Amino acid sequence: MPRQVERRPAACPSEQDGLLQTSIVCTHRLGCGRYRSKVVAASTRLRWSPVAGRENRAESAAIRAVVRGDVQAVGFRDATLRRARKLGVMGWVRNGEDASVQVHAEGAAPAVEELVAFLHEGPPAARVAQVAIDRVAVEGHEQFAIRGVSAGAFVVQEHAATAHHFDLRLEVEGVMRSWAVPKGPSLDPAVKRLAVEVEDHELAHNAFEGASAAGGVIVWDRGTYEQGGRVAWPQALARGHAVFLLHGEKLRGGFALQRTRAGAKAQWLLIKRRDEHAQPGSDVVAERPCSVISGRTLDELRQ
Ligand code: MN
Repeated sequence: MPRQVERRPAACPSEQDGLLQTSIVCTHRLGCGRYRSKVVAASTRLRWSPVAGRENRAESAAIRAVVRGDVQAVGFRDATLRRARKLGVMGWVRNGEDASVQVHAEGAAPAVEELVAFLHEGPPAARVAQVAIDRVAVEGHEQFAIRGVSAGAFVVQEHAATAHHFDLRLEVEGVMRSWAVPKGPSLDPAVKRLAVEVEDHELAHNAFEGASAAGGVIVWDRGTYEQGGRVAWPQALARGHAVFLLHGEKLRGGFALQRTRAGAKAQWLLIKRRDEHAQPGSDVVAERPCSVISGRTLDELRQ
């Protein structure tokens, strides 16, 4: 995606902890001649000087770091999060499956460098043996997040009512945000499934299965999910683009919900992201029709 990055000072420069706050504005091309600008907050050690002007501002930078040593289960992610937020650095930190800690950091170059210096030490209980740094492209993150942690429950209930559909529900702030997906989810990244936003449900409904006069409900899949993307939840949902990772029995890996029409009964597209869990050409709804609770299909439940 073509991207221009320009830096400009915040409307009202202020000093915090001796750091001058500036902001980075990323302009993303959306296609069809439309552009979207978003402010990526950042801070720099350089003092604001109207006289010094543009050349005095730090360049933006992005890095990926892999930190090895005794770095898990020592509060490394929380400490990195706190330091990144203090520095105005955006990105994420996660535990690797190989006992490493992995970091994506972007923002003003001096702030990113300061975070890298922190990674070489870590929190007091850590023993850092090695930090590998790769320079990468700025991605436009608007938050610093801990990745690889559950955000709560997800469930997909197959529901025969007036119309047959699947209800995708994600736990957000104590309720199950819900979308009715007429054709059900897909693991094929080429497939975009209409998902109509419907009313929130209670968490207690997640395990519900049963027949009714109009049809019935089975729990088609369930598990936990991780929030992803460059924007914090629930703001990502409010803005109409939410990325998440499912850990279900049938649905696994990254998905995106992209709003295509706002308002009442907002319309979204549910799309499988391209990752190791994608199954091009598959039809998971047809291939795996049984409830993950009872083992029955919706038709069997109704008999
Ligand atoms: Mn429903």
